[in-house]
Parts: sequence; C-alpha cells; structure tokens
Amino acid sequence: MTSGNLVLVATADLVSHVRGRAFGADQLADRLEHGIGWVPADLALTAFGALAETNAFGPLGDVRLRPDPSANLVLTSHDGGPDIELMLADTVNLDLSPWVCCPRDVLRRSLKALKEEFNLTLIATFEHEFTMLNADSTAMASGGPPFSAAALRHFEPFGTRLYSALGRAGFEPDTWLAEFGANQFEITLAPSEALVAADRAILLRELVRDLAKGLGWRASFSPLVRAGGIGNGVHVHFSLRDADATPILYDASQPGHISAIGGSFAAGILAHSSAICALTAPSVISYLRLRPHTWSAGHAFLGVQNREALLRICPTVGSVNVDQQYNLEFRAVDATANPWLVLAALTISGLDGLRRNLSGPTVIEGDPSAWTSDEREAAGVTDLPTSLNESLDALTKDEMIGEWLGSELLGTYFAVKEHELAILKGASAETICEMYASVY
Ligand code: GLU
Ligand code: MG
Repeated sequence: MTSGNLVLVATADLVSHVRGRAFGADQLADRLEHGIGWVPADLALTAFGALAETNAFGPLGDVRLRPDPSANLVLTSHDGGPDIELMLADTVNLDLSPWVCCPRDVLRRSLKALKEEFNLTLIATFEHEFTMLNADSTAMASGGPPFSAAALRHFEPFGTRLYSALGRAGFEPDTWLAEFGANQFEITLAPSEALVAADRAILLRELVRDLAKGLGWRASFSPLVRAGGIGNGVHVHFSLRDADATPILYDASQPGHISAIGGSFAAGILAHSSAICALTAPSVISYLRLRPHTWSAGHAFLGVQNREALLRICPTVGSVNVDQQYNLEFRAVDATANPWLVLAALTISGLDGLRRNLSGPTVIEGDPSAWTSDEREAAGVTDLPTSLNESLDALTKDEMIGEWLGSELLGTYFAVKEHELAILKGASAETICEMYASVY
C-alpha cells in the first residue's frame, strides 16, 4: 500500500534550482540504497527553464539521485493535507559511485583534500537575505521602516513559522530580522561542518519560499528585486578547526588577529577571487548587486569589520572563547549560486593558499572603497569583476579551479551561463530584475 506522504529527492543544480523527483514514503528504504532515476543533461538546465544546447550529454546516459537522509526538511502542508519531506541527494552513477559532475561531491572532495593534506575541517554558515513580494512578484507596500519592530511584526506569522520550522529541522536558527531594504529580511543559522552548512542553505531557501507561498506572498532571494534597490546577499561565514576541533584562525598577536594558517587560506581566496566570483556571484544580475558603496563587496581585500571587503574579519565579543567566535565572512555571494559550489570554491582556493604557503594578505583597517585607485593599488587592494563575462573569463583562465571542477562540469557550466548571457543580452536593468525575481 502506498502511504499518502511524498518524499521529494532533489539536487541543487548549477543555477541553484532545486530539482528532483518524489515517491511514496513507503519506498524510502529502497531509495536510500538505490536512489531514483535522473538524467545527466538535467545539469544543463538554465535559470529560466531552457536546456543549454551545447552540453556534453544530450539524450544519452542515466544517473541516480541518491538521498542523504541527514540532509532533510519537512515542508508542512498549507491546508491540513500531507506534509512533504524534502531530501537532498548525491548524484551517482548506476554502480552508485559518485558522478563526476555531482556538485555535492565536488564539495565533499574539496573538504576531503583539506582534511587529508592539512588535517583541517571547514566550519561555515550562510547568512541569507531575501525580499517579500506579492505572489505575482510585484513589490508590496512597505511593512515598516528598516530593522523595525513594525516591519518584523507586519509579516507575522511568517518569522515565527520560519524560526520554529528551522528549529524542528535541527538547523539551529540564530537571528531573524527585518533588514534595510523594503520588506527585506535576514535569517541566520549557527555554524556547522561545511557540507551540512551548504545542505542547510539549500533547504532553507526552499522552506522560506514555501512558507511565504502558504501565506499568499512570494519570497525572492534574487540579488536585486528592483533596479537601483537594496541587494539580497548571502554572506558566507567560515573558520577552520584542527584535528582536535580547536579553532585555528585566531592569533591575538597578529594584525587583525588572523593566524598564519588563516592568512594563507585567506590569501588563496584573494588570489583566486575573480574566478571564484564566477561560481559565487554567477549571474548577470549578480553584478547589479556587487558594486562598491553598497555593502555587498566593493573590492578584493581582507578588511577588519568592513562591509565593503570581499573577506571581512568579523568582530568578537568580550573575552571568553574569542578563538571560537573568530571567523571570516566572504561577501560576494548571492542565492543564484549553488551553496555546494560556493564552499567548494572557497575551500579549494584556500587550500591552494595553504599548499603554496602564501603569506597572509595585508589586513586593511580603513575603507578602500573611499580611496583613490592609486591608493588601493599601493595597498594591494584589487577590483572585483564587474560583469558575469568578466568573472567567467577569469574562471576560464584559472587552471587550478578548472581542473578541480573537471572538464565535463566546467563545460556544462559555461554552456549554461552563456545561454543566460544570450537571453539577457541588451536587456534593461528593470527587465533583468523582473526575470530573476520570477525564478529566485
Ligand atoms: N544587503 C547587503 C548585500 O547585498 C548586505 C548588508 C549587510 O551587511 O547585511 O550584501
Ligand atoms: Mg544583512
């Protein structure tokens, strides 16, 4: 007999859409072992629905989505009907080995290399911003001033439902706030081991969208919902722990209190920053958000408590467990990026810094966005890409990241992104905002 409850097994693809297939909960034991059928060419699906024509797979081949029961979340029915359990999956070959293009496995491989080569574990959390819109994606009247009790209260019971659903799922919700933008909100989770953090980011977005839909609204994570408006960022906080789980980013004797290992890791990220952006700010619209003086990320540098920095040294509070609190924040991320690939890009770039034993970047105390270009150059502060074309170009030239991703995944990624560029060629900022708000 088939139970009424569905389990939806899904992957987050190259454009960070969550796609998969559902089955009755009574099939779960078998599906955990053997997965459910999936099509390689699905990886070439683009943000707006079409398939990128120039993909390596075409009509050929089969893979499986094999659910990981620890990466799950219950989407509660809006009308008293059965709930749906959403479970994230690894994409595997028919012999159940990892598929070379599985984005979740790219992260797992990166974390394994960091562990094997340096005995280090990456700890992370994603800080999500999003905007509440009408169900048809148009702007709503303002619920209240920035950060106000009125704005937070206006959208109840959304916040309460979200916070308690995250708690029930074991995601350790931290802070819920009305943000600066009109009807913009932010939700944060406690840090966790990196693969778990990326899984939670993917599931959290689906939960937010689902809860908003249940209340007759639409929550959009698009980097910008209105031309000239306030951006929705997805800042990634991270730190490193050694084999004894001791935090090793902190060293009180150093500038910015960053340890030598932390400095090398940060230097690796800065060295690859333009190519990383092709994976973390991966859409045409990403570059309408990512501009100086918007508190997204203005330039590539390591800055102390500076919201214009690509890598921000976050504050610590008081004098207890300072090393546990100490973390870096990578700010050039938005929700059009796949969280598994975001953390993989940071991990392999940081790992490259460790392998090359790079010396730590200059720790910048002031605000380079307010300096002249000569002053920035003298301080080693570099520009971030200003368009998707520029970051893709940097990715093409970055052999280390390219080799790590592998030719099949990389080729598909370029095909997907070229399709996106072609669709939006010549489009106005307004049209670009409308299009992304309708799918993210
Ligand atoms: N909304 C800003 C962004 O696009 C971030 C503001 C903040 O620092 O929270 O990244
Ligand atoms: Mg914020």
